[in-house]
Amino acid sequence: MNTLNLMVVVNIHEKLHSKQGTVCIFGTGDFGRSLGLRLLQAGYEVVFGSRDPMNNSLVPKGSKIMVHTEAAQMARVIFIAVQRDHYQFLTSLTSALEGKVLVDISNNLKMGQYPQSNAEYLSSLVPGASVVKGFNTVSAWALQSGALDASRQVLLCGDDPGAKQAVVDIAHSLGLNTQDRGSLRAAGEIENIPLQLFPNWRLPLWIAAGLTAFFFFYLLIRDVIYAYVENNQDISYRIMITLANKVFPIVALVMLALCYLPGALAAILQLYNGTKYKRFPDWLDRWMLCRKQLGLLALLFAVLHVIYTFIISIRYNVIHERHTDVIKQIKDNKSLPFDNTEAWATDSFLSLGVLGFVLLLMLGITSLPSVSNTLNWREFRFVQSKLGHLTLLLCTTHCLLYGWDKFLKASTYKWYTPPGFMLCLVTPCVVLVLKLALCIPCVDSRITRIRNGWESSGARRRQGPAEMLKATTL
Ligand code: NAP
Repeated sequence: MNTLNLMVVVNIHEKLHSKQGTVCIFGTGDFGRSLGLRLLQAGYEVVFGSRDPMNNSLVPKGSKIMVHTEAAQMARVIFIAVQRDHYQFLTSLTSALEGKVLVDISNNLKMGQYPQSNAEYLSSLVPGASVVKGFNTVSAWALQSGALDASRQVLLCGDDPGAKQAVVDIAHSLGLNTQDRGSLRAAGEIENIPLQLFPNWRLPLWIAAGLTAFFFFYLLIRDVIYAYVENNQDISYRIMITLANKVFPIVALVMLALCYLPGALAAILQLYNGTKYKRFPDWLDRWMLCRKQLGLLALLFAVLHVIYTFIISIRYNVIHERHTDVIKQIKDNKSLPFDNTEAWATDSFLSLGVLGFVLLLMLGITSLPSVSNTLNWREFRFVQSKLGHLTLLLCTTHCLLYGWDKFLKASTYKWYTPPGFMLCLVTPCVVLVLKLALCIPCVDSRITRIRNGWESSGARRRQGPAEMLKATTL
């Protein structure tokens, strides 16, 4: 058989056994092995480059293992499945890696661990190769188990478009989506992604924790300590359910109001500026970005309130009080007259609470990506804005009805302090008043025009040309 025929046979053999070509992986650790297995399943031929090619017991069946220099010659794309600290060995392979596509999949232990991103460091070690950053957001476990739902997206960046395309093709054939983040300078940002811990949840969680702690201690002093000091009465058992069930709805209502307050503030700022092309202050931007999380936490506290309310009737002290009351009425031969106003107030209070909770539940469900993806922009806005404000109105009225007969009683203001439900009404009432003001036709039409791109002449004068450019490009 002449050389040409031999090459044709080898090509046919390669095509039969490996439809996708060959991929090289440096490193036979957790990630290297998981990626190798996945590539083999997708029809690739896999060659491992290792310091110890004789130790082939761990690599997936069907793959090859050889020393780094030999392995590098077998494929154009090489995944560097080695920790950054060990990259130095690659400098001895510069000629073997000339013109290759090196995929830097490495992560660090903490943000800003090194002054230079791992991918840029790799590129500086092997300047003849094209480095692509990618796959670092996919875990070895997810690759191996096929549980790629949470990390189906591969973010990548690199300076060579051809090299990036080669990596994109591999990712697609593994069933992964890709997102190009631009040049290799974006590598640091991609490397930080797996190190982030719920970045959008941090502020809402702090707010929820702060509100819970504040109202818990406030109510502890007003209810439990007050009763002990003034009446020498020990009602500390109320901490577990009564107090908790006062704190949960208060926090839920304030969080829900905080979810809608930044929208109102943003509208006021736009009205004041006479344009939408001026950036909001950073604090408002951050606040607006975590509205979904604020709303979901409000829902969580509302769920706790509902559960705690359901168990009220089975509590020992409630059963005891009820029995004592009935026995007292029998003993005194007196029965309590039916109070129609009280019945109306209680029923309305409960009904508004239930309606508010169901709407809040609906808001939570529609904020889930799988549901919100099925809604168009108008539908989403209708649910989140119109129904959202209606929910806030219902929940605020629920709270107002709770204290309808308590506002004017002097005994409500223990130690001259307002009760918790009164304090928590401040933010939702402010939001609802602002919303009402923004709905006044002349105000509403002006804000609609501004949001459609109209600018007042004052706005143009206030912004210099440079600032206008900055505001529109950011
Ligand atoms: P690992 O289990 O520690 O494996 C690293 C491999 O690197 C070793 O098996 C070894 O392979 C090779 N190696 C070790 N010391 C070396 C040295 N001095 N010189 C040359 N090669 C050396 O690590 P891993 O979990 O697979 O992670 C590999 C890379 O993937 C890391 O950069 C990590 O940040 C990244 N990553 C990992 C995951 C994950 O879920 N594990 C997820 C995303 C990204 P040989 O013995 O065959 O040479």
